[in-house]
Amino acid sequence: MNLLDANDTKGQYPDSWYVASTNTDLNIESLQEDIRVDTCIIGAGFSGLSCALHLAQMGKNVCVIDAHRVGWGASGRNGGQLGSGQRLGQLELENAVGKKAALKLWNLAEDSKELVKSLIKSHNIDCAIKPGIIHANHRARFNKHSKLEVQNLNEEYGYCSIRYLNEDECRERVGSDAYFGGTLDIGSAHLNPLKYVLGLAKAAQNAGANLYEQTRALAIEYGKNITVKTDQHVIKADHLVFACNGYLGDLEATIGKKVMPINNFVVATKPLTQALASSIIRDDVAVADSKFVVNYFRLSEDRRLLFGGGESYGYRFPADIKSFVRKPLIKIFPQLSDIQLDYGWGGTLAITMSRLPHFSQLHDNVRYISGYSGHGVGMATLSGKLAAHSICGVGESFDVFKRIESKSFPGGPALKSPLLVIAMLYHAMLDRL
Ligand SMILES: Cc1cc2nc3c(=O)[nH]c(=O)nc-3n(C[C@H](O)[C@H](O)[C@H](O)COP(=O)(O)OP(=O)(O)OC[C@H]3O[C@@H](n4cnc5c(N)ncnc54)[C@H](O)[C@@H]3O)c2cc1C
Repeated sequence: MNLLDANDTKGQYPDSWYVASTNTDLNIESLQEDIRVDTCIIGAGFSGLSCALHLAQMGKNVCVIDAHRVGWGASGRNGGQLGSGQRLGQLELENAVGKKAALKLWNLAEDSKELVKSLIKSHNIDCAIKPGIIHANHRARFNKHSKLEVQNLNEEYGYCSIRYLNEDECRERVGSDAYFGGTLDIGSAHLNPLKYVLGLAKAAQNAGANLYEQTRALAIEYGKNITVKTDQHVIKADHLVFACNGYLGDLEATIGKKVMPINNFVVATKPLTQALASSIIRDDVAVADSKFVVNYFRLSEDRRLLFGGGESYGYRFPADIKSFVRKPLIKIFPQLSDIQLDYGWGGTLAITMSRLPHFSQLHDNVRYISGYSGHGVGMATLSGKLAAHSICGVGESFDVFKRIESKSFPGGPALKSPLLVIAMLYHAMLDRL
């Protein structure tokens, strides 16, 4: 099943609160003729648009094609959390790759937050960015680990924007009895992701990149001159970047083994009164919890609760996303059991076995960036810049990620989905214990 088609209509954004509250019309056409470029990028999300922007700024002739619309994929649908570090906690990362590599990855993640913040500033992207993410523990026994994580970041990494919250401090800030403590990181942030990705698209266009919507790559011929056959016309390029993340499908089979698409879901309540909104999230920060199938939430610009969560193991979205997400929402906030849900939508992201991004170079002139494992607001933006620099022979950070061993999902594409189902069910069961 192809996730580009499975849950959506061609060329149409999902029925999300983000879309309903944003002017999405950038007047971008589909590809009208055969073209020749220095670099062709497939996928107009954070990864592809950041890559295009940075290449265009370095004087390259670059195009981005998207099968649907700019920001149609996960970039325009997500929880908007711009977190610190990688998807793995820093202590876990040290165990996985050693202290030296963990420090490099931490520094790159810090670069990613700074990059997002500076792009927003320099291109005047109005996307309601605000500071702060609370990581809330759904088990009191996780508090010990949170304290160690904070101590390690403060003392070993000199990162002092994070602090430990005990149970009382956590409950003062998040109005739920489901949490027993956690951390508050004011160096991280949250934003409106659709407004951010559309802003990136405009910035890339202003820098000289050509964007084409409703233009789908169907087949690639590799070689010194690459040919991308689309459903419209043919693109010849010196370099190619795959920035399709969870929507890659079978366009490039070797990569399909390394990243797994999974679906995730978000709802938007009706606007809350100021008093109710503050009783749920006191300081307008974002929250993500410690469950394997993470619940995450924050307030929208018009004071709705945007709540993401829910477990789904097939490629098809549930028929009724609002009812589906209502279940975890009212477990965390029983006081909202009757709340009206105005919007419910899903999206597809990509995870890797290591939960670290997967960068690779299939040929000298073909790069692949994806697998941010739910941590893509910052990392996908950075990956686009690193891929652009790698194409232009500037810097070596692309290779830091390229060198991380990226295991294939066991059994290859045919088996990976059933295995993921088993793994997810197992972890979902642990969440409940
Ligand atoms: C519900 C949800 C919540 C999330 N919450 C967060 C969060 O709070 N914080 C965080 O950091 N991350 C979060 N993520 C992850 C984050 O959204 C992604 O990591 C990030 O958006 C990936 O960006 P991307 O540009 O690589 O891919 P995408 O934004 O998915 O873009 C890929 C694009 O490629 C296009 N494409 C694919 N194949 C083709 C083809 N053959 N031809 C042409 N075009 C093609 C698609 O149309 C799509 O637009 C979340 C994801 C989801 C789904």
